[in-house]
Amino acid sequence: MPYFDHNATAPLAPIARETWLRLSDEAWHNPSSPTRDGARARLRLDAARERTAEFLGCPPARLLFNSGATEGAHTVFDHWARTLPPAARIALNPTEHPAVLEAARRHFPDRIDFLPLTPAGLIRLDALATLFSSDTPPSALAVMAANNETGVLQPWREIAALCAARHIPFLCDATQWLGKLPASGLGATGWLIASAHKFGGPKATGLLVFPDQSESFSAQSGGSQENAHRAGTEDVPSICALAAALADAEQTKVFLEESRLHLRNHFERAIVSAITGSRILCPDADRLWNTISLLLPHVENARWVAKLDKRGFQVSTGSACATGKAGPSHVLTALGLSIDESRRVIRISSGWDTTESDWHALLAALTEVATELIPPANVVKP
Ligand code: PLP
Repeated sequence: MPYFDHNATAPLAPIARETWLRLSDEAWHNPSSPTRDGARARLRLDAARERTAEFLGCPPARLLFNSGATEGAHTVFDHWARTLPPAARIALNPTEHPAVLEAARRHFPDRIDFLPLTPAGLIRLDALATLFSSDTPPSALAVMAANNETGVLQPWREIAALCAARHIPFLCDATQWLGKLPASGLGATGWLIASAHKFGGPKATGLLVFPDQSESFSAQSGGSQENAHRAGTEDVPSICALAAALADAEQTKVFLEESRLHLRNHFERAIVSAITGSRILCPDADRLWNTISLLLPHVENARWVAKLDKRGFQVSTGSACATGKAGPSHVLTALGLSIDESRRVIRISSGWDTTESDWHALLAALTEVATELIPPANVVKP
């Protein structure tokens, strides 16, 4: 069944599955146990940390494993709320994932400002520089690397440099970037969060990188695990599977971006020609090679998704965790779409294994669905 919902979650990569199964046999012991088997499990854990840190470009001691980006966002905002001045205000990219937005609202209620975007959905670096040199710069900032709905890539390197120059803590949510584009440099941005299940690792396993100047950082966990930053027995098989999935992506996949971009672009051109009045969101921005936000001319997105599903094609109406929530997507609202328009957007997100014929088949299925849902004059069969 052609799967075009990788931004919601990706299938387990074969190497991650093999690693998880093997380590569940060989290294299921508690890495904190004072036994030789415990020490062996600890060695596997240390190796996974070193390997992952190497790809991210950070010292292993600044990398901790957790349950994913949602937990990571809460850890970071909780830390900021405890260590920044009581009146501190934080600045957020308005198109952050709900995991980040909700964590920010919880720890900084009424102390959030949203950053301005360009029409293409990018953070305006000129506005950021002006804000930083104003009398009231933000005390901390969060901007994601890649958007889960539109695929728009934010200039995180430049933002990290601006923040570093002003000693402003910066959180980058790399959940959709990791495994799709090279990880290099992400570990040096400051605070970084991600989830393994978006890049072929197991679910409920993720990572957090904290910056140099945060020696004081401690989740106040009371436990000695994860260098005393997160209490609870580490899941060594899942952590090793995360490291294996990331290594696999870095060593065998991320450099194939160009060819995958070609397939996505070809589909985009074909679908807007086939369905009159449809359009691609943020067409001119640099976007993930796998992600398309497609605005359809008529009929609510849920009906398009259901009809495609019946034909064996899985796409989505937007962020998986927002599906079913009342109201339009905040991402699409921030991009200037009306409520009516945002209800007509579907998200298509491919994976490394998606083939050219999968894309052709999706094009044919979507065109066929269009002939059922919209006036025939608006559909040109490819
Ligand atoms: N950030 C982004 C950009 C995401 O796409 C997601 C999941 O969709 C998350 C954070 C939350 O990840 P998790 O549910 O694994 O904690």
